[in-house]
Amino acid sequence: MISIRNLHKKFGDLEVLKGIDLDVQKGQAVVVIGPSGSGKTTFLRCLNILETPSAGTVTIDEQTADFSKPFSKKQVTSFRKQSAMVFQHYNLFPHMTAIENVMEGPVIVQKQNKADARKKAAQLLEKVGLGDKMDFYPFQLSGGQQQRVGIARALALEPKVMLFDEPTSALDPELVGEVLQVMKDLASEGLTMVVVTHEMRFAKGVADEVLFMDGGKIVERGRPEDVFNNPKEARTRQFLNLIE
Ligand code: ATP
Repeated sequence: MISIRNLHKKFGDLEVLKGIDLDVQKGQAVVVIGPSGSGKTTFLRCLNILETPSAGTVTIDEQTADFSKPFSKKQVTSFRKQSAMVFQHYNLFPHMTAIENVMEGPVIVQKQNKADARKKAAQLLEKVGLGDKMDFYPFQLSGGQQQRVGIARALALEPKVMLFDEPTSALDPELVGEVLQVMKDLASEGLTMVVVTHEMRFAKGVADEVLFMDGGKIVERGRPEDVFNNPKEARTRQFLNLIE
């Protein structure tokens, strides 16, 4: 489903991604962990070209973006449609209700008929446990509820891949569980997802594969039970000792 080859990203002289290779199969949940500044968010943002990589290729399903060649705005738009991102700070439109936020993408970007988009948005809000909050504005919702709207909004685009960028980092601890539960349900339904998170319990419980990133590289990867219980690399052991 996703195939990444030799992905590099520089900000000026700072090389943040130093050659990432990764394959993600359809239905897999891949969780990216690693210290602050290791490049996790940049990596995720490169997958839907919110950041333009300096070199390398990213293939999602049938489409390949080759960053050694110039490509048009149209190609970027078409490539982006394959994935949807859930952000740390939800990024909901404050002047729109929950259901309007979820409908926005399908109606404005995908030109869907409003009635169909509303019906679909209502189903998605039910799915994330917000059937009774559809007409609430973001300021009337808790952080956990706002993030669940964020997830419904991303799902409304019917992406092939969901990208989660530290989706629980901005939440009070007691609200983290409800968001992780929604993500866990999505993973068990077979959604293909790449998740950057500091939630090690989620990584242990849900990931098919865990990637440990440090210094812009994937230092170690494997099944969660192997990476967490029996890390091969000293840097992985160091990181896990610090956070546990
Ligand atoms: P955290 O866990 O703290 O979110 P991270 O592993 O996600 O960290 P990134 O946010 O990807 O790390 O940042 C990696 C490096 O790239 C950092 O040194 C950061 O300062 C730098 N960086 C990120 N975005 C930009 C940007 N737009 N311009 C310049 N430097 C950037």
